[in-house]
Amino acid sequence: MSNFRFKALEIAQSRQALLVAAPTERVADFFGSNTFNNEVMRTLLSPEAYLKVTEAIQTNGQIDRAIADEVAGAMKSWATAKGATHYTHWFQPLTGETAEKHDAFFDITVEGKAIEKFKGGALVQQEPDASSFPNGGLRNTFEARGYTGWDPSSPAFLMDNGAGGKTLCIPSVFIAYTGEALDYKTPLLKAINALDKAATAVCQYFDRNISKVTPTLGPEQEYFVVDRALFYARPDLVLAGRTVFGHAPARGQQLDDHYFGSIPPRINAFMVDFEFESMKLGMPVRTRHNEVAPGQFEVAPTFEEVNLAVDHNALLMDLMDKIAEKHNLKVLFHEKPFAGINGSGKHNNWSMGTNTGVNLLAPSTKPKESLRFITFLVNVVKAVHDNADMLRASIASAGNEYRLGANEAPPAIVSVFLGESLTQALNDLETKSEITVNKGDNVYYKLGLNRIPSLMRDNTDRNRTSPFAFTGNKFEFRAVGSSANSASTMTVLNAIVADQLNKFKTDVDDRLAKGEKKELAIVDILKEYYANSKRILFEGNGYSDEWVEEAASRGLSNIKSSPEALRVYMQPESLALFERTGVMNHAEVESRYEIELEKYIKNVQIESRVMGDLAMNHVVSTALKYQNNLAGTARNLVELGMTAEAEPVKAILREISTRVMVIKKGVEAMIDSRKKANNVTDTAERAKLYATEVKGHFDGIRYEVDKLEEIVDDEDWPLVKYRELLFVK
Ligand code: ADP
Ligand code: MG
Repeated sequence: MSNFRFKALEIAQSRQALLVAAPTERVADFFGSNTFNNEVMRTLLSPEAYLKVTEAIQTNGQIDRAIADEVAGAMKSWATAKGATHYTHWFQPLTGETAEKHDAFFDITVEGKAIEKFKGGALVQQEPDASSFPNGGLRNTFEARGYTGWDPSSPAFLMDNGAGGKTLCIPSVFIAYTGEALDYKTPLLKAINALDKAATAVCQYFDRNISKVTPTLGPEQEYFVVDRALFYARPDLVLAGRTVFGHAPARGQQLDDHYFGSIPPRINAFMVDFEFESMKLGMPVRTRHNEVAPGQFEVAPTFEEVNLAVDHNALLMDLMDKIAEKHNLKVLFHEKPFAGINGSGKHNNWSMGTNTGVNLLAPSTKPKESLRFITFLVNVVKAVHDNADMLRASIASAGNEYRLGANEAPPAIVSVFLGESLTQALNDLETKSEITVNKGDNVYYKLGLNRIPSLMRDNTDRNRTSPFAFTGNKFEFRAVGSSANSASTMTVLNAIVADQLNKFKTDVDDRLAKGEKKELAIVDILKEYYANSKRILFEGNGYSDEWVEEAASRGLSNIKSSPEALRVYMQPESLALFERTGVMNHAEVESRYEIELEKYIKNVQIESRVMGDLAMNHVVSTALKYQNNLAGTARNLVELGMTAEAEPVKAILREISTRVMVIKKGVEAMIDSRKKANNVTDTAERAKLYATEVKGHFDGIRYEVDKLEEIVDDEDWPLVKYRELLFVK
């Protein structure tokens, strides 16, 4: 068996970096060349059609059939000229779980249809064979089939279809005939819309020229890379996306700085390759290699409008997956592929921009703009404070459960970091007693708002341990899992901020109706909000045990298990918020809840099965063979009269026996727990049993297996070891 491991190692060792021709043209010459972008539309569409389409994108408006026909015609000729043979609606169903994750994130598996017949109707609406996509009971409830619909705000693009041709991919939503969302994109678009409305209304207090607010997202994506042959020699990586066993390497993170002076050549070639392809697909990425663990890297795009950024992240992950194949590599997007080693996140950098070009979370040198900045800042803090558990629910998954609170990752406690000077400024504002503004006074100076920009400029402090940190002109939500579709978290974040801004507007308008001065009313309300939500602010080390204690004493939640975190979606307040903001109705939330629980169960179940199989059929069997060898050695020594010398050998024999016994019992108990859980019909209850009882056996089994790895002859050990996986040439 260990032959397999050594063969894989030989293959991995012999590989050379692929030669990748770096693009000779300037970036501007190929950026977006595989997308049906604005530029292309301008040249190929009639001026009327172009105007209608861009207008519809701006206003989320409808596109009528005649225009759709024209766009479809233009898309078809553009795509065929570039070698497209097929087209497909590209959407993001609610899968995304470990085993099939990489192709399920978005979907070209819906058979691409031949492009000759492509017309407006086919552009606007498609009926995929939706039976294979999860719907959380929605389709049963409504007895409806699903269809996909074109999202004109995300440009269509070309992908190699693997058969020598290209497929035109049309970003789409996926909904039931009765209108309920079956995908990630639909509620996200609604949340973006809700935020736009709410934020624009609040902006009107400050600037009448602001007519649109667009939330922005720059997701920094962390990932591991391993050799392809080694990947396939680890059934746990193949089936569960993570290693269920493996002893930490002697050389772990402590030496990473030295090790990562430069990127290994094979990885470098891979990066250059996918970066180039990403650029052609209109994705503005820059790769980085500043991650803590060996074999771990990061890619960060320039931020874009949230919907586009989410599509691009999903597309980027798929692209990386494909291009890694070409380089005989495998990308691991799992949150915790290796125990004891840094996990991977997807840091969601988020802000809000206006049609006038202003970043609403950027401090300004102008006092009047400072009030606007503080307004949005405090409202975000309050939204996070009031809905921390919803944010926590939005990042819940089986994979992220391993990462949150483990080494080098934020805990499951949601807190906000603002930095010392900004916190100080808000404290000052809060403690400022009633001020009176006389004729001729500058209200902003009286409020101290003239000082904020200077404070901000000094504010260079960074806190890398905070799950939700203000980083100068945006918030960075770091607790999102690396394999997640950012849409989940962006839907919740934009919805809760929209909801909060709506409340704020009501509060301000109430005061204005009483004849209060606008600026004073705003500041008064912000003071109150701040006082009520500042317990969520934390500047210290978020990874420390002290914080866990302190957070508990502050009454902040620390929801560790995913099923428990997800349950928050079903609370009346959450359901009401989703309804109020028009993001999701009760049935939609409930179906998502079901689907997330099912995914969780499936993931833990797969992991548990892999663990049992590897433990018994690979590890224990190998240990027993080794034990047999040792027994022979001991017997020989005794026969030769070397009884004393036989003692250490017997000691190892005993240790192996004990560990094998514990593993065997552990696996049996785990199987019993699984049976018990599988007999429970209620999904939430079953998920809970998986989270507690089934998973409860993991650590014990793993501990013994990892000990055996240290004892059993390296020659015989069947599983590729961490040190072999983590250091790619
Ligand atoms: P840092 O994490 O050191 O602040 P960057 O400034 O490079 O690093 O930003 C990290 C990510 O944040 C990038 O993806 C970047 O595009 C994104 N980002 C920057 N400004 C904004 C913004 N206004 N809205 C959303 N994301 C942003
Ligand atoms: Mg960052």
